[in-house]
Amino acid sequence: MAATPETPAAAPAAAARRKTGRHRGEGQWAVGHHTPLNGNEQFKKDDDGLNVRTRIETIYSKTGFDSIDPNDLRGRMRWWGLYTQRKPGIDGGKTAILEPEELDDKYFMLRVRIDGGRLTTEQLRVIGEISEEFARGTADLTDRQNVQYHWIRIEDVPEIWRRLEAVGLSTTEACGDTPRVILGSPVAGIAQDEIIDGTPAIDEIYRRIVGNPDFSNLPRKFKSAISGSPLLDVAHEINDIAFVGVNHPEHGPGFDVWVGGGLSTNPKLGVRLGTWVSLDEVPDVYEGVISIFRDYGYRRLRTRARLKFLVADWGPAKFRQVLEDEYLKRKLTDGPAPEQPSGQWRDHVGVHQQQDGRFYVGFAPRVGRVDGATLTKIADVAAQHGSGRLRTTAEQKMIVLDIEADQVDSVVAALEALDLRVKPSPFRRGTMACTGIEFCKLAIVETKARGASLIDELERRLPDFAEPLTININGCPNACARIQVADIGLKGQLVLDDDGRQVEGYQVHLGGALGLEAGFGRKVRGLKVTSAGLPDYVERVVTRFQEQREDGERFAA
Ligand code: SF4
Repeated sequence: MAATPETPAAAPAAAARRKTGRHRGEGQWAVGHHTPLNGNEQFKKDDDGLNVRTRIETIYSKTGFDSIDPNDLRGRMRWWGLYTQRKPGIDGGKTAILEPEELDDKYFMLRVRIDGGRLTTEQLRVIGEISEEFARGTADLTDRQNVQYHWIRIEDVPEIWRRLEAVGLSTTEACGDTPRVILGSPVAGIAQDEIIDGTPAIDEIYRRIVGNPDFSNLPRKFKSAISGSPLLDVAHEINDIAFVGVNHPEHGPGFDVWVGGGLSTNPKLGVRLGTWVSLDEVPDVYEGVISIFRDYGYRRLRTRARLKFLVADWGPAKFRQVLEDEYLKRKLTDGPAPEQPSGQWRDHVGVHQQQDGRFYVGFAPRVGRVDGATLTKIADVAAQHGSGRLRTTAEQKMIVLDIEADQVDSVVAALEALDLRVKPSPFRRGTMACTGIEFCKLAIVETKARGASLIDELERRLPDFAEPLTININGCPNACARIQVADIGLKGQLVLDDDGRQVEGYQVHLGGALGLEAGFGRKVRGLKVTSAGLPDYVERVVTRFQEQREDGERFAA
């Protein structure tokens, strides 16, 4: 029988053909491919995304939404954190068939980057004021430590920037093919069990890289994370580059370097380069890796452009060699892997003592949904109890820092009175949801309201459940809420109900996890639940797990 593409004999030949094709034309600048191979590469070549700011300030904010150049509107404005939002009332069945302009509302989502998740009470107040004045009260906490507004008018953007920048915040490169927000441990510099504080490296990378035209035309987004917490609290496995705190037997505290993680439709976990870097070396290594991505990253297909594809083709050994030989011009030190996380939750929720004897208090809204008025009240609670600092987490939670022992109970009571739980149920604690159909143009289904009502329903039905459990809800096949690494991952799509009607629902993935035993959940073949049937389904899964579990078995095991 002749070999077909499916037979083993044909597989090596097909792989070789793909490999040859890649070397001929994946659009890598470093091997001379400077001709744009898709529309995004073309508009980036025509004009740097960073340059759109001047046009927003001097033209579009005065002449209005309809005057915006389409390549700016759906392209370069992302370099300043702006996406057009979905027109209300368009159902999920139309997402794939309408043209982008038919889905566009004349308002924007605006993302504020909060590198390291660090906020002062003054900054949080400004975020809250902007929400109330310009964003119809919206302000969601994202799983990348950012805040996102909706309903932003182009006319108001310069004033919003002025207010944010006056308190040291920005939207620079919060979206787009850029170095996005740098995740940091939300308890950097304060946690008693900290291995090393990565904050100085975050600040130096921001100073050197963000808004720098040398790094503003990358093949795709570039996600990064730095944490010295033994809880492994920044989802390092799914970032393009991550620095994870470790103790080297000879050199002491430093970082283990991971590259090439990313989820979306072709998920890959990051891989270790096997090197230990000191705090001072982190910015140089970051610059080297982002330079490799810029120079060698694939620019032919958007779906194959993230760093994870280059890392998968090269492997960690070649990647490290190129980093050392071509970019750093020196060898790196070998180093150990991180140890097993010291706890099952990574979100820092609850009351914990700091290095200085004071306390930090982590709390959970539902699926990251807060609003401007609530954020202002949180800033007030912090200030009234002597705190000037807060943090956002990579789990859609927040933390108030620097609370004296005699103020802790009062802070907890004030937060709980705002429906921000310091002792949340596992369902509130472990459920995350992306933006979904309310505002996202790619969405097929509702997510935030669905997640909030699911939490309430599960708390009512299963009041005694006390296991760590993650339920992540996406509104489409992308992975903004990390469905592949949740215990129960729910991927939004249209499904058939019992009467054969097409309704909103989810494809179920079970058993994903982060941590040293990270892995992707299994897509349960044919298992799709309608939105209406979601509480029944989760209740069944959780109850069955409780009944059948073996000693010590975790949900994800
Ligand atoms: Fe939008 Fe899909 Fe991302 Fe949700 S997962 S925010 S629906 S792109």
